[in-house]
Amino acid sequence: MKICQRKIARESVFCGSLILVNAKHRLREEREPELSAVRDSRLKMRMQTVAAQALTALIAASERAAWQEEKNRERIVCVSGYRSREEQAGIFARSLAENGQVFTETYVAYPGCSEHETGLAMDLGKEQKEIDFICPEFPRDGMFGVFRRLAPEYGFVERYPAGREEQTGIGAEPWHFRYVGTPHAQIMAERGMVLEEYVRWIRQYELSDNPFLYCAGGKTAAIGYLRVSDRGENVYIAVPGNGTVSISGDNIDGVIVTVEAGER
Ligand SMILES: [Zn+2]
Repeated sequence: MKICQRKIARESVFCGSLILVNAKHRLREEREPELSAVRDSRLKMRMQTVAAQALTALIAASERAAWQEEKNRERIVCVSGYRSREEQAGIFARSLAENGQVFTETYVAYPGCSEHETGLAMDLGKEQKEIDFICPEFPRDGMFGVFRRLAPEYGFVERYPAGREEQTGIGAEPWHFRYVGTPHAQIMAERGMVLEEYVRWIRQYELSDNPFLYCAGGKTAAIGYLRVSDRGENVYIAVPGNGTVSISGDNIDGVIVTVEAGER
C-alpha cells in the first residue's frame, strides 16, 4: 500500500467521465475535448478518445458474439456523437421548426445541457437505408441485445431508460448511450440506477472514511466522494502497490475518486 498525494483543483468538479449534465446541471467545461472517431462501418462520429476506444471495442465484441451465435449479420452504426455548443443549438432550432416544442423538449436537450457536448455520449442505430437522426431505431433483440448486455463491462450505460423520465427529465431514448467508465457502469446496471441517482447515492461514501467497495471479476475498487471547495483540496489516497487512481468531477460540487487494485 502506498499513499498518493493529489491536489484537486475546483475545475476538476466540472470534467471527467462521471459528470452529470442535464437541464439542472449545465456543462461548464467549454474547451473541446480530445476526440477520436469510433470505428464502425461508417467511421464518422467522434467521442472523447477514451470513450471512442471503449465503444469501438464494445461494437466489435457485440458483432463477434452475435455472429458466432449465428444470428443475422446486422450492424451497429454511430448516428450522432460529439456536438459543439453551436451544433447542438442548430439541432435544437431545426427540431423546433420541424417537430414543434413538445417533441423537441422531450428528445433534444437545450444547448449547454446536452450530453453530446461532453463527447461522452453516442446515439446508436441499426444500419439500414433510412436512419432517423433524432430517434434512430436501436432494437433490443439480436446483436443489439448482445450490445446492451455487454455495455456495462465496457463502461457504457443506456442513459435514458423508459420509466425513469422523472429522474432524467428526458423521454425514453433506447439509442442513447453514455460512457461513465468502469466499474461505475456495472454498479449502475446492477442497481438499476440512472446517473442522476448514482451521483447522489455515491455521496454517502466519503473518500476518507467509508469508500464503497466493489468487487467483480477478481478486481476490487474503492470509490469515494470528496467535496471540493473553491480553493481546491489536497488529499492523501491509499493505493495498493499496482493499483490505479482515477478522478472525475460530478459537475455539482465534488469529485468521485476510484482506486482500483490490480489483478491478483
Ligand atoms: Zn443522444
